[in-house]
Amino acid sequence: MMSASSLAQIRIPSQKIKMKEQTKYQIQPEILEFMRKSSGMTEDEVAKKLKLPKNKYLRIEDGDEPISQNELVHLADIYKRPLIAFYSAEVTKVPEMPHDYRLNRDKKLSPEVFFAKRKALYLAEQLKEITGRKTTLPEINTNISAIELAEKMRNILEIDFNFLKELKDEPILSYYKSLIEEKFFIPIIEHSLKTNGVRAFSVFSEVCVMVLNESDSNEVKLFSLFHEFCHLLKRQDGICTVDIEKDKNNQPEEKYCDEFAANVAMPEDALRNSIQEPISTFVQVEKIARAFGVSKQVAIIRLKEFRLIDHRKFNAFKSKLQSAKKPSFGRRNWERTFVTIWQKISSLIQDGQLHSHIEVQREIKNTIYPKDKLLQWSNRNKKIFAGIDDCQNNQIPKIRLQYNLSYWQNEMNRPAPWADPYLIAMAICEHAIIITQEHKTKANRIPPIASQFGIRSLNLLEFFQELKIKL
Ligand SMILES: [Zn+2]
Repeated sequence: MMSASSLAQIRIPSQKIKMKEQTKYQIQPEILEFMRKSSGMTEDEVAKKLKLPKNKYLRIEDGDEPISQNELVHLADIYKRPLIAFYSAEVTKVPEMPHDYRLNRDKKLSPEVFFAKRKALYLAEQLKEITGRKTTLPEINTNISAIELAEKMRNILEIDFNFLKELKDEPILSYYKSLIEEKFFIPIIEHSLKTNGVRAFSVFSEVCVMVLNESDSNEVKLFSLFHEFCHLLKRQDGICTVDIEKDKNNQPEEKYCDEFAANVAMPEDALRNSIQEPISTFVQVEKIARAFGVSKQVAIIRLKEFRLIDHRKFNAFKSKLQSAKKPSFGRRNWERTFVTIWQKISSLIQDGQLHSHIEVQREIKNTIYPKDKLLQWSNRNKKIFAGIDDCQNNQIPKIRLQYNLSYWQNEMNRPAPWADPYLIAMAICEHAIIITQEHKTKANRIPPIASQFGIRSLNLLEFFQELKIKL
């Protein structure tokens, strides 16, 4: 579903490649400041990551001192941004973080959360572009009790608890996720949210997105899923802890959405129906929790709520839960794989005939597993990746005009490097041919944009044919 990045290469018949490591760059102070703030980082943190004294970093951010290429690349890596974003004022026009219902205003969100938010927005925009679809939330009056709203939602989603019992290989979470994704076109992604206790968040926009914490267990994710879904039904963004035991008296929205989640995932009737004999053992609790796909914690809270266990039993189960707590390990499932053409043609590359851009090198570094042959290859052939120069930067505003504005803006938000504009700029400056697998005529792709500047693009097949002719 993600568009493959174009790792294009430029062929230059006879030209030595010069690395321009000494080049200094002047980046607009507003952009540098925006980049840092939109990553949720302080000046100290960035200076430390760059291994620069704070005052030197401040001079750079204030525009009093230029930045070296190595520092610029390092900064792009820290912020997980395309290099081109440092040269585009559009980058500062990204949407705001969702309103924070949970945290105190002055509490700092971790850079992971900022990054996950940007990824979510980027994904939403891409999906809108690729599919032309938008999220369609049901028109329900949400000024009703959480229990009533949950019941309406169960009917719309046609949740059948007898059916859940029959799910064998598929976790209940996946079942619910696909229900929501398919019915309403709400993509659900998982990402590391790490610190600050942020459990999940949702972004309300034309394509709504929910982000779950990848290291949570499926049962916790399931609760988060319905909690975030509740925010979206109420046409809200949310950044949430989704800890149903915490006192949320001051946060009515959070309390409401917790109640909603509990009532969708484990409604009273279905819970009562699932119990054949009085609950006395922890094994019974585990069985019930499994049947609904919820955590044991949610199960005992619900059991207590409906007086299916007494206070004493509840406390006993609770302490058993606390003693059994072990860290859960999540699996990263948002691994953007930028499909590269490098693998296929690496054997054809000879020094001086082909060269590429430092941003392509970043794409390779950022997206390929370290052991990958391609990365090893690119490390051995560092020389072919040329840096940014003035000629390229002078082309960028003209290239920018060939892109659709909203597409360009979204690319400024790309949670990874983006080489396309620099490849085109480089081709213009070096009078080169671009080799790319990208679509020849589709808007915002390398070939049609490059052709506006009289630059040819070849796909791999054409490239091979061209080589043959010359041989
Ligand atoms: Zn919330």
